[in-house]
Amino acid sequence: MSERLLLTALKGGSNTKIITLNGKRMTRMPSALEKLPGLRILNLQNNLIHEVCPELRTLTKLTLLNLGNNLFEEIPEEMKYLTSLKKLHLFGNRICSIATGVCDGLQELVLLNLNDNRLKSLPQEVGRLRNLTYLSINHNQLTGIPTELCSIQSLSELHLNYNQLMGIPEEIKLLRNLQQLFLVRNNIEALPEGLCHLKKLRILDIAGNVIQIFPAGFQNLKLREFYCEGNPLFLKRPITAIRPKDVWTLREIAARFVLGQLDKKNHLIMNAIERYPETKDKLSKARRCPLCRKPFLSEWLECVRFVSPSKNWKISRNLHLIPLRILLCSYQCFDRRGPNLFGIAQE
Ligand SMILES: [Zn+2]
Repeated sequence: MSERLLLTALKGGSNTKIITLNGKRMTRMPSALEKLPGLRILNLQNNLIHEVCPELRTLTKLTLLNLGNNLFEEIPEEMKYLTSLKKLHLFGNRICSIATGVCDGLQELVLLNLNDNRLKSLPQEVGRLRNLTYLSINHNQLTGIPTELCSIQSLSELHLNYNQLMGIPEEIKLLRNLQQLFLVRNNIEALPEGLCHLKKLRILDIAGNVIQIFPAGFQNLKLREFYCEGNPLFLKRPITAIRPKDVWTLREIAARFVLGQLDKKNHLIMNAIERYPETKDKLSKARRCPLCRKPFLSEWLECVRFVSPSKNWKISRNLHLIPLRILLCSYQCFDRRGPNLFGIAQE
């Protein structure tokens, strides 16, 4: 049946550039496609196809392939021969895996739509889709994204709504061209600090997660739209914390001493630390207290500061203040905090 349909569609002759066979109840791809090496657009959406035909590999001029709403369970290896493909639609299938090598072949791919499938994870190879600008994987079962995804420099829109993500990697900061990020209805507890480095980010939608607090620096994002309904955000409510004296571990005391000496450019310590790369690496993860500016390593007081969202942001209704995560070095600093800074009760 599919061959006959293709012949009907070929009224334009064999140098036809576009084939559309939408909703024809086709169960397989027409193998006569190999007679159309010049084909640019192939639309076979809303059919019953579950595998590609081997002849697909001859379509090296194809720029758009729409296989949405079919019965595929995998992005098959044959796709790697579609070296001119720019847009690939595979929404509404049953895809749970991506064959090895596909990403290496799809070097021209700009748009990938995998909405409504059954993906639980993505292979590291997705990072090789170096021209991708639009990636949409809404309504799947992703529990995480590989850090390699963050190496796609061209990516400007990332849609990951309705998955089971617990978080996104700190490496998100490498997506320097990211303008729109959608993370609606996942299980995200905290956003990474790296997110605050995304200078081009304009739309951020994190509605329906379990976020209580945002990383410091969040208010510096140049967003135009920000949505966060349905998160258990901290409310502005002072707590009366019991304030013990600061007691640090010896390790923390030593770390703070060394960090303080490095700040003062103590040459003896600076030279010594070069001999201990492991220690140097650990100390490089030190943070700085926003009140006294002194460094600390792994012991701190978690606090929350409430700031008004930027006036330029279009935001969720009822969002008057954004809770930011602030880490103080000591109770000494906690005692001289400003009126907008609160302690977080430890459970
Ligand atoms: Zn301090």
